[in-house]
Amino acid sequence: MGHVTRHLGLDLGGTNIKVAVIERHGDAISTVANFQASTEADEGPAHVVARLIALGRQAIEQHGPIATVGIGIPGLFNADEGSIVLLPNLPGAWPGQHVVGPIAAALGLPVRIINDCRAFTLAEGRLGAATGCDTVVCFVLGTGIGGGAIVNGQLLFGRHGRAAEFGHQVILPGGPLCGCGNRGCLEAVATAAPFAHQAGYDTPHEAVEAARAGDRRALAALDTLADLLGLGIANALTVFVAERVVIGGGIATAGPMLLDRVRAAVKRHQVLVPADWYDIVPATLGSFAGSIGAALWGTEAR
Ligand SMILES: [Zn+2]
Repeated sequence: MGHVTRHLGLDLGGTNIKVAVIERHGDAISTVANFQASTEADEGPAHVVARLIALGRQAIEQHGPIATVGIGIPGLFNADEGSIVLLPNLPGAWPGQHVVGPIAAALGLPVRIINDCRAFTLAEGRLGAATGCDTVVCFVLGTGIGGGAIVNGQLLFGRHGRAAEFGHQVILPGGPLCGCGNRGCLEAVATAAPFAHQAGYDTPHEAVEAARAGDRRALAALDTLADLLGLGIANALTVFVAERVVIGGGIATAGPMLLDRVRAAVKRHQVLVPADWYDIVPATLGSFAGSIGAALWGTEAR
């Protein structure tokens, strides 16, 4: 029998920091604890790093000893320096802010950094909707569209952890401006805001309810959303030949009404991967997937 180790994951969000402690015993992994606390992002980067350290200490006191720490970041980072490059959803001067070094020094533990959607993918791939699958792609549908891929059992990390940004594949050349500076990205055309706008409602929730009630304009907007998402997913499927596509994030709660349309659109938009080689399923781990995945990354990163 191998020895049992515990691993800490910290998932930095604009509103909350989510914390997970997982336990690894050989290949068997289980979640020991989850909790969350306010990020207090308005207090600025140095304060937020101190919050991460304080919550890490709390987890270690209650559930330690801990062997490794993983930090999930909702943006871009320099993996060599352990510093932030871009955190679009948190206020303050984040570019250049060191995260890995201060936390490693304060906690006295090895710390690894990962994009939050890659962490989400790792969690769903190891413990959630794609457990046991060899090759997985994941689409996280929130304000933007995040992505991640597990290929032949390994999380695809890429330079500075930027691999598998499925939300920034160009779907409509010359289309609407994306937050990244390019035009026509999947994220710029197939998220909740353009969907609600096209449906004629203020919020995506209202638009989904209207579509459910048979509102023709809302249904047309839903068809468009599903078609664009299906195109983006079909591209990823063609590139990676994933056996499972996991859909997570807020708009995924529209349920079968959206998912069935997406499945049909994926079939329309790709021909190389036979339909019985893959399935498209909702995520299963819930709101702590990112912190669980960050904890997993601490155990898997080399
Ligand atoms: Zn983009």
